[in-house]
Amino acid sequence: MIKQDDQFKKVISHAKEYGYVFQSSEIYDGLSAVYDYAQNGVELKKNIRDYWWKAMVQMHDNIVGIDAAIFMHPTTWKASGHVDAFSDPLIDNKDSKKRYRADVLIEDYCAKIENKIDKEVIKAEKRFGEAFNKEEFLSTNGRVLAYQEKIDTILKRLGKSLENEDLADVKALIEELEIADPLSGSKNWTDVKQFNLMFDTKLGASAESAMDLYLRPETAQGIFVNFLNVQKTGRMKIPFGIAQTGKAFRNEIVARQFIFRMREFEQMEMQFFIKPGTQKEWFDYWKETRLKWHKSLGMGDDNYRFHDHEKLAHYADAATDIEFKFPFGFKELEGIHSRTDFDLKQHEDYSGKKLQYFDHEDNASYTPYVLETSIGLDRMFLAVFSNSLVEEELENNTTRTVLKLPAVLAPTKAAVFPLVKKDGLPEVAKQIVDDLKWSFNVFYDEKDAVGKRYRRQDAVGTPFCITVDHDTLNDNTVTIRHRDTMEQKRVKIAELKNIIDAEVSFKSWLSTI
Ligand code: ATP
Repeated sequence: MIKQDDQFKKVISHAKEYGYVFQSSEIYDGLSAVYDYAQNGVELKKNIRDYWWKAMVQMHDNIVGIDAAIFMHPTTWKASGHVDAFSDPLIDNKDSKKRYRADVLIEDYCAKIENKIDKEVIKAEKRFGEAFNKEEFLSTNGRVLAYQEKIDTILKRLGKSLENEDLADVKALIEELEIADPLSGSKNWTDVKQFNLMFDTKLGASAESAMDLYLRPETAQGIFVNFLNVQKTGRMKIPFGIAQTGKAFRNEIVARQFIFRMREFEQMEMQFFIKPGTQKEWFDYWKETRLKWHKSLGMGDDNYRFHDHEKLAHYADAATDIEFKFPFGFKELEGIHSRTDFDLKQHEDYSGKKLQYFDHEDNASYTPYVLETSIGLDRMFLAVFSNSLVEEELENNTTRTVLKLPAVLAPTKAAVFPLVKKDGLPEVAKQIVDDLKWSFNVFYDEKDAVGKRYRRQDAVGTPFCITVDHDTLNDNTVTIRHRDTMEQKRVKIAELKNIIDAEVSFKSWLSTI
């Protein structure tokens, strides 16, 4: 079995080697936790964004999109609570001089206990074979129950101390659990302090008139401040949603996991405005709907789980994460938050403008409640990319590296090859490229033996390879090879578009759920 660390290293180096992700400003030795998307990465990222946008906006007649500016009036962030409360508890190790998020150190400690539970399950599975009932085992085995109780107690205490801003207790917990610096093993910690994650900058030319601004740490506030504009101009009736994708910036304390945690990243958020009192029902609806969206990509149903929050943010009355099994374990991929009327009320207070909805059925005005779905585009990219990268043992004892991206998301849908670089075959292959490129991203390649060209496309994740040979000249047929099965079929050139479309179209993926 490949170790988790090794698998993650492979993901990072494959992303670079095949033109997906580069470190920002690499020639200057890079910038920490900032990345650039390369020629294939930008296509994959765009396709994920489109897959989300189509599912959320195009398929819901009561959801519309906006694109708000990154700069916002600074009072926005006072109203939203970010100036006062958007901070993480930070702790330094005095010996290694490394900085950590105190809550993450404790959560990682719990994840280790969880690994022990997983090991007990694997052992029991082996022992009981077919007769093994996982649910029953988890709810009755003494050792597992003790582990689970320990996790629950720790997380409950952490949640409480953070809620009460009792940072001394967070440190006490780290000491009681004897948590050591994962890099140096030292237990010599500083006190825990809060660190605000917003980047600030200035707007305006002269020092006197310049205004202090923040780079937005989330896209959501651009939606809240536009709530009434959209509702009125779009004549939207509650319940309705506003969706947005765009950059967000956070000065993360620890950012060592490639594009999982970046300082500049992209979010895809949707705020759904509802009648007060209906939030529980919509929370359940969006939990289910978002999970279905993830599952539609066929990346393994067991790779997802919900994690309901013990510690709720200042604006929420319920919250859950959709966690995904990344190469380094289950981690948050998307958040679903019941945000009450907190944001709209705060903006009403700070701006002095009414942000209410007149409900014609009830003949009354109210401040809507909000259900939010918020997913990191880069994190989704990492989920898709890491899950797709596999090393396959082939029958002839060789291996192939293949990036089994969901075909709907693949940067290039088909590569077209002439078998040889002569006899008029390149001309036919180029004509196929010219015809198909109206519908898909296609790639032409005539270099090296065909087998090698296949392998290159496997590694870059292209679902189809099309080869033009001498028979093509007589009967207008080509060989189409499927990336995942490696199966090859002889088909008419005229059929290519439909064959590809059936596997890569948005409809064939999203309508499976
Ligand atoms: P975390 O607990 O991992 O810091 P969060 O709970 O602060 O995340 P939210 O504020 O709920 O995250 O943001 C919504 C989504 O935005 C997250 O589920 C994640 O996918 C993405 N996201 C948040 N911070 C980052 C980051 N620094 N880099 C990349 N994606 C991020």
